[in-house]
Amino acid sequence: MGGVPGPYDLSPTELAALLPGEPAFRSRQVWDGLYRRALRPAEMTDLPAALRSQLEEALPSGLEVLECQSADDGDTTKWLFSLADGARVETVLMAYPDRVTVCVSTQVGCAMACGFCATGQGGFGRNLSTGEIVEQVVSAIRAARPRRLSRVVFMGMGEPLANYDRVLGAVRRLHTDIGLSARHLTLSTVGIIPGIRRLAAEPLPVNLAVSLHAANDELRDRLVPINRRYPLDALSDACARYVAATGRRLSIEWAMIDGVNDSGRDAEELAAFTRPLGAHVNLIPLNPTPGYAVRGTAPGQVRRFRQQLRALGVNATIRVTRGVEIDAACGQLAAPAPGAADSPRFEPTPGVRRGAVRTRR
Ligand code: SAH
Repeated sequence: MGGVPGPYDLSPTELAALLPGEPAFRSRQVWDGLYRRALRPAEMTDLPAALRSQLEEALPSGLEVLECQSADDGDTTKWLFSLADGARVETVLMAYPDRVTVCVSTQVGCAMACGFCATGQGGFGRNLSTGEIVEQVVSAIRAARPRRLSRVVFMGMGEPLANYDRVLGAVRRLHTDIGLSARHLTLSTVGIIPGIRRLAAEPLPVNLAVSLHAANDELRDRLVPINRRYPLDALSDACARYVAATGRRLSIEWAMIDGVNDSGRDAEELAAFTRPLGAHVNLIPLNPTPGYAVRGTAPGQVRRFRQQLRALGVNATIRVTRGVEIDAACGQLAAPAPGAADSPRFEPTPGVRRGAVRTRR
């Protein structure tokens, strides 16, 4: 099931139907206001005042801000949004010196059940509609001002390729209507092979990130349960076809879990998977979540692991952790249900202090 249709779920024809008796150019003007200029109808000062207030009524925002938290000296912002049916999702905006990135959710919860991920621990709610995904980006564009939002990563709550049509609808809107380049959009997946195949055939080549975390089936079956359906050999093949078809860069995400996937042998297996794909590896020291007791790998071992990968011919970066103290980092998005107490606090990964969460390279 999709969401309740909001302003960004309307087709151009449906929008035009809200403007009876108006000159033909109006609907183009409103469409531009919503997408290119990221305006609320009340802010569309090029419209007659009566029409503005009429549209403000007819197009209520599909996302209500329940909470807005910030960290990293204001460079990371996390919103908890309530959707029209009361379901909740989180969105994270990250400002860097050279770019501003938003991380959007694609589902309420997630059905993939990766044990180390807070979203996976909470189970699945429903798919987001295209408009609910787009509106997260529009909120980020507005909040980023005066800076320009440069990148969108589909790495929030949910599995994008398990909500394929609505996610692709959002990709098209971001590209065609908002004007973001496909090379600045990144979709992250646990490795849903039919979705990767479909994506490879799309005319808009986006970047693809695969959440690998283990490069042998025995371990990956446990860490990322969908691996039982889509094992590594088939995943590698789908990734190779994606790169060949799109010419896009592939990245591999690897959450470093102490004593689980951070040994020399793990590095060798990861390198063997990655090298033929020419992929780049992002190492993410595991962030703490309520339902998973194992810690993240200590910083020294993370650096050794990266060195080992480099020696094996694989480029790897250690992802700078953002927003740990507001539970906004990778794998920490959980969107507390109505009435729930504050999300519980957990011991941070060694070397990552709350309140000063920038990890060093
Ligand atoms: N379902 C998609 C989109 C979510 S992206 C996917 O899995 O790719 C979120 C990323 O954070 C994924 O790479 C996920 O594996 C990673 N992640 C999940 N839990 C984490 C944790 N506790 N610490 C660090 N990374 C985590």
